Formats: sequence, C-alpha cells, structure tokens
Amino acid sequence: MIAGLITNIQRYSVHDGPGIRTTVFLKGCPLACAWCHNPETINPRPHVMRVEARCIRCGSCLAACPRGDPVGLPSAVKAGFPSVTPQPGAPAECSVCAACIEACPVNGRTLVGRELTPAALRAELLHDRLFFDESRGGVTFSGGEPLRQGEFLLAALALCCEEGIHTAVDTCGHAPRELVQRVAAACDLVLYDLKLLDADRHARFCGASNRLILENLHWLARHHPRVWLRIPLIPEVNGDPGELAAMARLAASLPAVEQVNLLPYHAIGTHKRDGLATHPPPAFKPPSTPQIEAARRIFEQAGLRVCIGG
Ligand code: SF4
Ligand code: SF4
Repeated sequence: MIAGLITNIQRYSVHDGPGIRTTVFLKGCPLACAWCHNPETINPRPHVMRVEARCIRCGSCLAACPRGDPVGLPSAVKAGFPSVTPQPGAPAECSVCAACIEACPVNGRTLVGRELTPAALRAELLHDRLFFDESRGGVTFSGGEPLRQGEFLLAALALCCEEGIHTAVDTCGHAPRELVQRVAAACDLVLYDLKLLDADRHARFCGASNRLILENLHWLARHHPRVWLRIPLIPEVNGDPGELAAMARLAASLPAVEQVNLLPYHAIGTHKRDGLATHPPPAFKPPSTPQIEAARRIFEQAGLRVCIGG
C-alpha cells in the first residue's frame, strides 16, 4: 500500500474544521507563499531542520557534517568556530545522512517527514475517536498541500470513511481537476485557501498562477455541498479594500461556501525558516484590530458568515 510522507499529527486542534480535530500535515506543496506558517512542509522530500528554540549554538553539528555545512546553521554561528573542510567525496547538497542530528546534544536538529501507511495512520487516528465523537469533530488533512500525495490521501480518506470519522481537506486548490473531483467525492468538508484574486500579485507572493485555483474553486462550489473559504489576512499582500471586496463578491456568489475564515497573519513560521536552508520571509506585519474588523465588515456586508481565525 502506498505510504504518505507526514510532517506532523496535531491533536486537539480546534482551528481546522468543526469540533475537536486531529490534523495530519502532509509534505509537499506546489506553492511557496512568502508568509507560509509551515515552510517545512513545502519540500516534498524528507530533510533536516534546525530547531531554533532548542539550539544552544554549540557547533557540534558543524564538526559532524561531512560537508562541514549543516543545514540551517546561521553563518554568524559558523563564523564562531574554526572552518571545517568537507570530507573527501562529500555531496554538494545535504544527503540527509543524519550525522548532525546524532551529534546534537539537545535534540536541536530534526528529520522532517516520516513515512506512514494509511493503515498505520488509521491506527493513530483511532486513539482520538472519543474526542471526535464527543465534539462532532474529526480528521483534517492539511500540509503542505495534501493533494500532492493524492493516492495516499484518497486511501486515508477511505479508511476514515469506513470508521465513520468526519473528514476535512485543507487545500490550496492548485491541483489537477480530476484529483480535485476524486478528493471532493471522498471528504465531508473542503477548507479552501484563497490568497489573492489579483493574478500578478498571486504569482509574485505565492510562486504560481491562481488560474487553476480559481477554476477549481468554481467547480467545487457547484459539486461539493460544504466549503469553508480560508483567507490569510496580510495587509501588505491582500489588505487592499478593493481586493478584499472582490474576494467577498466571489465568495458570496458561490452557494457552497458556508463561511469565510479570515486568518490574521502572524510571524509564527519565521523561526522555522531560520532553521531551514531557505531565505527568511519578508517582514510582513500582523494586521491591527481595526484592520481585521474592517475586513470582517467587507465580508459580512456581502452576506457571508465570517470567523476570525481557523
Ligand atoms: S544530514 Fe548529513 S549532510 Fe545533511 S546537514 Fe546533517 S550532517 Fe550534513
Ligand atoms: S543544532 Fe544542535 S549541534 Fe548544531 S549548533 Fe545547535 S545545539 Fe549545537
């Protein structure tokens, strides 16, 4: 049976659909949004990450890495130690050999991504069944982009269905239509992420066109009974009242959209980027309370039910 690559299974989540939920984060995403809160899920393969909150900057990983350049160790820390010559034959890119993880004295490095079969995932999810039943909750598949692992996702959804567990799929919508159709037929609720209608700004901030995303949203709204639209609220990106009003008009025109979740930006993913081999994000500011309330009014005036947060 096909295995999935998972970064995290988060229990007791109340922000990813109705009730108490267990959220399964799948690895790999076709977008690379500049504000991504889960940047460790973008890469579709397992990789190493330094955990900023635990790292005591001891340099042990520097000495252990055959390349002499452990992923995510800041240049300023490296500069504090004698430079390490790469071992003969050391790969140019990180080979995920895990030598740095073993050398770290404080669990400050971690392997991101573990394989799990749908059956093993079902066994883990069943531990939470009482919470699902008591709260009318269930399981949410998120990421990353869960449709990037379409066959695993479909197998996991089928097993949840067999168990009578409510399922939600949190998707950016950038996926082939045929797969969107199969997933839509297999889940109870779609959490659909919409960032921007402005095509140029979408490409600039998310790394890909929004054409497919909008086409799939229109299809979903005609063919799936329950869609929650999730919109990150980032003043520098989509805080323009004209952009928000256009999104509100679109949402109001789609009967399947039960509610809109406005997700105020926060800088929680920043420290993760520090521990990856990626550039730090642009310095976005979280929206102020008046900005959040102004956005809420725009969507409510379009006749939509609005929730602030997940
Ligand atoms: S996994 Fe291996 S190659 Fe990659 S950073 Fe760690 S020690 Fe270096
Ligand atoms: S990641 Fe671990 S081994 Fe590397 S500098 Fe930080 S604490 Fe030391």
